[in-house]
Amino acid sequence: MPASHHHDVLIIGSGAAGLSLALRLPETVRIAVIAKSRIDEGCTLYAQGGISAVTDPSDTFESHIADTLDAGAGLNKPEVVRYTIEHAPAAIEWLVELGVPFTRHAAGGEPDAFHLTREGGHSTRRVLHAADATGRAMETTLVDETRKRPNITLFENHIAIDLITGAKLGLDENRCLGAYVLDINAHRVEAFAARGVVLATGGASKVYLYTSNPDTSSGDGIAMAWRAGCRVANMEFNQFHPTCLFHPQAKSFLVTEAVRGEGGQLLLPDGTPFMERFDERGNLAPRDIVARAIDHEMKRLGIEYVLLDISHKPAPFIKEHFPTVYARCRELGYDMTLEPIPVVPAAHYTCGGVVTDLHGRTDLPGLYAVGEVACTGLHGANRMASNSLLECLVFAAAAAAHIVDTLADTQGPPPLPAWDESRVRDSDEEVVVMHNWDELRRCMWNYVGIVRTNKRLERAWRRADLLQHEIHEYYSNFTVSSDLIELRNLAQVAALIIRSAQLRKESRGLHYTLDYPLTDSSRPPADTVLDPRTFTLDTARKTG
Ligand SMILES: Cc1cc2nc3c(=O)[nH]c(=O)nc-3n(C[C@H](O)[C@H](O)[C@H](O)COP(=O)(O)OP(=O)(O)OC[C@H]3O[C@@H](n4cnc5c(N)ncnc54)[C@H](O)[C@@H]3O)c2cc1C
Repeated sequence: MPASHHHDVLIIGSGAAGLSLALRLPETVRIAVIAKSRIDEGCTLYAQGGISAVTDPSDTFESHIADTLDAGAGLNKPEVVRYTIEHAPAAIEWLVELGVPFTRHAAGGEPDAFHLTREGGHSTRRVLHAADATGRAMETTLVDETRKRPNITLFENHIAIDLITGAKLGLDENRCLGAYVLDINAHRVEAFAARGVVLATGGASKVYLYTSNPDTSSGDGIAMAWRAGCRVANMEFNQFHPTCLFHPQAKSFLVTEAVRGEGGQLLLPDGTPFMERFDERGNLAPRDIVARAIDHEMKRLGIEYVLLDISHKPAPFIKEHFPTVYARCRELGYDMTLEPIPVVPAAHYTCGGVVTDLHGRTDLPGLYAVGEVACTGLHGANRMASNSLLECLVFAAAAAAHIVDTLADTQGPPPLPAWDESRVRDSDEEVVVMHNWDELRRCMWNYVGIVRTNKRLERAWRRADLLQHEIHEYYSNFTVSSDLIELRNLAQVAALIIRSAQLRKESRGLHYTLDYPLTDSSRPPADTVLDPRTFTLDTARKTG
């Protein structure tokens, strides 16, 4: 008999967004948190630079707002930016109360003051950090706290396949009733029923061949919400982090932007600085400009990487501020206190996602989306560094408050039909899945990467479309395995990214195309919103 679970709230994802939401709910609420890998695995664990908030008396909300709007290139929602930034100090206080060990004491400053660093796009030092492993400090604190709460049950190695909705069950009221979840170890699909469901599944950068993200970032939440009828916006805006360590064994190791914030310089392999040629802010220009400059120089010179040099700073300073980066570089044979290190750009952050409001609500009643999976309107066309952990925390609190307000009036879901068990078995087609996975990610990297063109997008669309059909065939005829679930989601997210990029006939923020190299100032900036009720990603269905 397949297991089924009943909770008040089901949270899919255990990063900063999912766990802080769980902890913000009162202990009277019975909560399930599921994670498709280890409970602490996800982008949050790897965040290095920090979390932005106005905590210094010389800084102002207006300045943080202005910087965020400037980075977002006209597409941020001003009311969301203000809401997030004004709620940031309280979010930091909450983390400090939980015990997150932020680095304190700026040299020459107040002994107990936070040490603030500066990152690209910020006009002042306002990024709190725990050395260079801020995400690890946050995630481990959140996991520890969550484990202490008797009302929260954690399910590791459980991957959500699809949301269960009233519409899918043929009910009059369409709301989210829960999710089908594959218990990866038991190889069994279980129905999780809940009165409120939260997508906190992170982003989709795994759709690109080279990424700073862990394997969990396969866009599952975005694809599940799309299939459940929710609008998805601004998927063309994928941020590429300019500096990942270039090394065959370290393809996803990120070198924090704070290295540039503390004086690190980008250089060509012959030692020539180049950023000043691209932007007057030089090494501290926003990420998209830096990534594009590096991409340009790599293509122009046919080089595999550029260099990042902070060796002019005293060695103790480097080791104290960047212990994680320093240690990882040493493991790989580089000493950043003595020499420049080789770096390349990699897919890093999904600015678009499931459309949500100020309470984290999606289009489907009972379904919330929080964290990188969501498109709240904070980032617009480009996320400013260290605003994303902040968004997770602020919107987790907002969604928790809304859930608390509405839970008592929400009926429990009816009995949910069990999953067809004949569809859960080991696949003899894993090789095909791996091949499709590789093909998709390569195609996205080559055709839908840092610099786009109409022709490249058209090529990418044809391949993504074909892959969607192949995957659909395996999915409906064969098995449910976690690789196949992720591949299906990645293919759908790839299609959403390509279509969104095709719809934007200009360059703006992170979306840069050689066919429309300028920003269109002839009309007001608008989001790219795709609505599954009026738009299909399936060419075959569209053309009949
Ligand atoms: C290397 C790196 C450095 C970064 N540095 C910074 C920084 O300094 N400052 C900053 O603000 N941001 C930074 N970011 C971005 C930031 O870390 C993320 O945006 C943020 O952590 C996202 O949190 P989240 O809770 O939304 O998702 P994540 O932390 O990615 O968690 C996603 C969760 O969803 C689960 N999940 C996904 N799909 C499913 C499914 N189908 N079923 C069940 N569970 C699922 C995963 O298992 C995981 O638990 C960085 C990102 C990276 C990769």
